[in-house]
Amino acid sequence: MEIIRRKQLKEKPAAGTPLGFGHYFTDYMFTMKYTAEEGWHDAKIEPNEPKPFDLATSIFHYAQGIFEGMKAFRQPDGSIAVFRPDENWARMNRSATRMCIPNFPEDVAEEGLEELLKLDGGWIPTQPGTALYIRPTIVATRVMLGVHASTEYLFFIILSPVGSYYAHGLEPTKLIVEDHYTRATIGGTGEAKCLGNYAASMKAGEEAEEKGFDQVLWLDANEKKYVEEVGSMNMFFVIGGEVVTPALVGSILPGITRKSCIQVLKDKNIPVCERRISIDEVIAAQKNGTLDEAFGTGTAAVISPVGLIRYQGVDYAINGGKMGPITKMLYDTITGIQYGTAPDPYGWRKIVK
Ligand SMILES: *Cc1c(COP(=O)(O)O)cnc(C)c1O
Repeated sequence: MEIIRRKQLKEKPAAGTPLGFGHYFTDYMFTMKYTAEEGWHDAKIEPNEPKPFDLATSIFHYAQGIFEGMKAFRQPDGSIAVFRPDENWARMNRSATRMCIPNFPEDVAEEGLEELLKLDGGWIPTQPGTALYIRPTIVATRVMLGVHASTEYLFFIILSPVGSYYAHGLEPTKLIVEDHYTRATIGGTGEAKCLGNYAASMKAGEEAEEKGFDQVLWLDANEKKYVEEVGSMNMFFVIGGEVVTPALVGSILPGITRKSCIQVLKDKNIPVCERRISIDEVIAAQKNGTLDEAFGTGTAAVISPVGLIRYQGVDYAINGGKMGPITKMLYDTITGIQYGTAPDPYGWRKIVK
């Protein structure tokens, strides 16, 4: 793979700087191009620097683009591990198919990522709870204003050292149930990690923040009755000892952290069920004392306890606003595998060689 080196490396954030999420970017990026004639080609690593684009480039107009999110972790022996990257490449190609983007070669993307991590390894933060966030993206790059699938694309991977996703760290989050706006409908693009989904969700997110909430809890678009997910996390509820997560009905993003948690729960013989769950059932369980825990799962936030849910103007506290035992077990298990401090019985750690 071609590597174009920088003349001078960037300055890294000083040790101890609060990283936040997505504020700092590394020295290099991976890029690959697509044209109808040549297919995917020109895979290389180059300095991460601004690129000029014609303002008629189709991504700016019709949002034909997709992304992924994964993390790399520094291991106790000094090596670098990525959590289940094959799952992300496969999902990215499913998103691509939904958005009329040609599928890319997953082995080339993986090789590019590993080369990039070797070059930028010095950017992996080491403070507890930090990681190097990986953002693979594909955007339509044809310069043309017709509403058609582009014939040219740019695939890139950029890297960002990150701290915890929420400013308050592992403190339980506060969610507000959204019963006006919708995120996704069945037959729409909710299952794909496509750019427009996030633009469509911002209005509700802003209004939630103004009211002092961290994120929106989305309901199904048709009946505003069933719990779907949170903007960047899948949802789990522990009700009477059973863990329930909304079934993947077509409008929910199939999270890899979600899938990993389900597997861990099954292997620990904790009852877990994927089914439709109504917001009324969640509220009824809170009222009768059987809603033990609620948490969200996602690469950015890992496992995030939910301490409070507001629905129709009423606040419902969960587990006294504290992290519950199943949430804690999953957090410890998943982060133990990621950071290399626990055994990895599933082979979920991919070590960069
Ligand atoms: C990325 C994402 C998730 C979490 O998926 P992971 O694979 O666990 O990171 C959940 N919901 C939405 C809408 C997402 O974009």
